[in-house]
Amino acid sequence: MSAKMPNIPKDHPRYKAMMIRENIIKGCETKVVAPAGLIAQGRGEAFDYIIGEKTEKFSLDAIEAAACAFLLAEYPVISVNGNVAQIAAEDLVKLSEESGAPLEINLFYRAPGREEAILKVLKEAGAKTVLGVSGNSSIIKELSSDRRIVDPDGIFKADMVFVPLEDGDRTQALVKLGKKVITVDLNPLSRTPNSAHVSIIDNITRVLPLLTEQIKNYKNKTKEELKSIYNSYNNKKILKDSIIFMSERLLKLSAEISGV
Ligand code: ATP
Ligand code: MG
Repeated sequence: MSAKMPNIPKDHPRYKAMMIRENIIKGCETKVVAPAGLIAQGRGEAFDYIIGEKTEKFSLDAIEAAACAFLLAEYPVISVNGNVAQIAAEDLVKLSEESGAPLEINLFYRAPGREEAILKVLKEAGAKTVLGVSGNSSIIKELSSDRRIVDPDGIFKADMVFVPLEDGDRTQALVKLGKKVITVDLNPLSRTPNSAHVSIIDNITRVLPLLTEQIKNYKNKTKEELKSIYNSYNNKKILKDSIIFMSERLLKLSAEISGV
């Protein structure tokens, strides 16, 4: 089976979202994306639709705190799964270069050839070193899934982990291990953003360039300045703001339906 990219006209009102969807489907064929990744994409799309497919203030505030966390960390690591590699490989490489945080492939669904397929995508996007593929492994005892296997030179020893599109169990395990956890997740109701220290409620494709830029801009700040910005950030408030935003937007859209 080889799906051809359908011809989506550039003036389609949801052009970007449709292209991402097609890209994820393509990734399924090359094993980069797991079948469950298609379903995760669908959940993400639904929430993005509700947000209006735009970066909102609650996302910008979280991106600012995330940039501070990257710059304050001794050893930050960027965790990469299939969906993220498929739709944002080049931006992951740029974030890794700007922040100095290595990329680590960490999968929930391990299948023969999958890690290799993701490694290929990252290398083609310009990644020089990628962790999680050396065969060396450490175990996060708190977890029973395959995600318990991490790289001893990566997530295992990291003090901060960036885990976009992560599942709730692993986020909680990483927090329990004392690591600072930053996530990107369009669903503010899922367990991951409710367990992480900084939750960016936005599409990963919009977040990565903004986060990289913010890190670049904040490099001239002192540790004290970064700490002060980070400490004034309140993740619970951000989650609340995002849910209120979605509720209000839905109410506004419902009010626009006339004739009833
Ligand atoms: P949890 O285990 O945290 O309660 P879950 O089982 O719904 O939640 P996972 O499948 O483990 O979540 O993680 C995928 C998450 O990524 C989903 O919440 C989904 O909304 C989100 N997601 C999917 N695509 C994107 C995207 N492009 N950008 C940001 N978030 C996305
Ligand atoms: Mg989950």
